[in-house]
Amino acid sequence: MNDSAFHSVDGVMHVEDVSAASLVEQFGTPLYVYSRDALTRAYRAYADACANRRATAHVAVKANSNLAVLNVFARMGAGFDIVSSGELARVIAAGGKVSNTVFSGVGKSATEMCEALELGVKCFNVESIPELHALDAVAGSLGKRAPVSLRVNPDVDAKTHPYISTGLKSNKFGVAFADARAAYRAAHAMANLDVVGIDCHIGSQITEISPYLDAVDKLLELVEQIEADGMKIHHIDVGGGLGITYDNETPPDIGRFVKTVLDHIDARGHGARDVYFEPGRSLGGNAGVLLTRVEYLKPGEEKNFAIVDAAMNDLARPAMYEAFHRIVPVVERAVVTAQRYDVVGPVCESGDWLGRDRDLAIEQGDLLAICSAGAYGFTMSSNYNTRPRAAEVMVDGERARVVRAREEVAQLFAGESVLPD
Ligand SMILES: *Cc1c(COP(=O)(O)O)cnc(C)c1O
Repeated sequence: MNDSAFHSVDGVMHVEDVSAASLVEQFGTPLYVYSRDALTRAYRAYADACANRRATAHVAVKANSNLAVLNVFARMGAGFDIVSSGELARVIAAGGKVSNTVFSGVGKSATEMCEALELGVKCFNVESIPELHALDAVAGSLGKRAPVSLRVNPDVDAKTHPYISTGLKSNKFGVAFADARAAYRAAHAMANLDVVGIDCHIGSQITEISPYLDAVDKLLELVEQIEADGMKIHHIDVGGGLGITYDNETPPDIGRFVKTVLDHIDARGHGARDVYFEPGRSLGGNAGVLLTRVEYLKPGEEKNFAIVDAAMNDLARPAMYEAFHRIVPVVERAVVTAQRYDVVGPVCESGDWLGRDRDLAIEQGDLLAICSAGAYGFTMSSNYNTRPRAAEVMVDGERARVVRAREEVAQLFAGESVLPD
């Protein structure tokens, strides 16, 4: 397995001290299972590397927004990075501190700004001049000042999938590098904004440190110009995006990544500033699996299909990004010979696949674990095909607890109604 919280005992996958097969017996499939220990260790790697430095990790809520998951991080003193007022509500419900939460996102509404200002978020990461005007107006109407940082697009190649690369010029995110100085001047001139920092987020599933160092260099170049214009940049937010091992990628480990970035900023003479990180995938990604049952094995002339009870509505990443997730049997079978399968779901779309060309020794009714599903798994799930969303379970040592109940069909159309005549 990718992470020692997920391991095999006598040929049966275990999550910490609990057999995955017994979890399915209790809670059914499809089932998301998270390891508290794996979540804790990933966050601690950030916290330890940030300790005694002016650095903070803000957990990106969108990667895994389950309250129990957020609560594990909140108990450890984490900050949070949100992209909607819904996520802010989750942070609060999970025991996180609003005062240690930054508000990112390219399209914040006035209502969301208003709520976040009233509740006291630490910083708004603003992505355009119109958004600066909107925030200034909201702050003015509330008689408050809004702390802002501009998300600058450093135009570096994060060398990742085009859908999850965000720091290029052609991207919808951030303020173009060439326009950033003027945007800061505009922010400075607004009556109700306090410029406090600068930020970027160059992409996701980044497996090298060099794009971060390139981005930092460009940000620091700007910081000097912005300060020459009379503003003070208190913090540099380098965003999230650190990759994980899905297959055979070799991303830097979290501690080395954080230290390298911090040392780089120090070496450039900016060590007195606060540095923020916004990790998502690297915290939860390898702390969760999706368990599913093989409904049918369907041999074909060109391909064999293993049709499972999880689908693209449960785990969208393969359909959306052609993402690779390792798929392993929960119980190893010695007597069955492996065959090559496409692992697909029951949804009526050809794009509904979870893994292609996988050699698996399986029979109908067997359980499979789709690995590395703890980030952008459940949070991207939908009810397409009127499929109730999976249950989520958190394992903590020998204990397993449902942290989100499996949806029931009646819930799915509870808010709908037919015309009266
Ligand atoms: C999604 C996102 C993150 C987290 O990215 P990961 O690749 O999951 O680490 C951080 N910051 C912002 C602004 C984001 O949109």
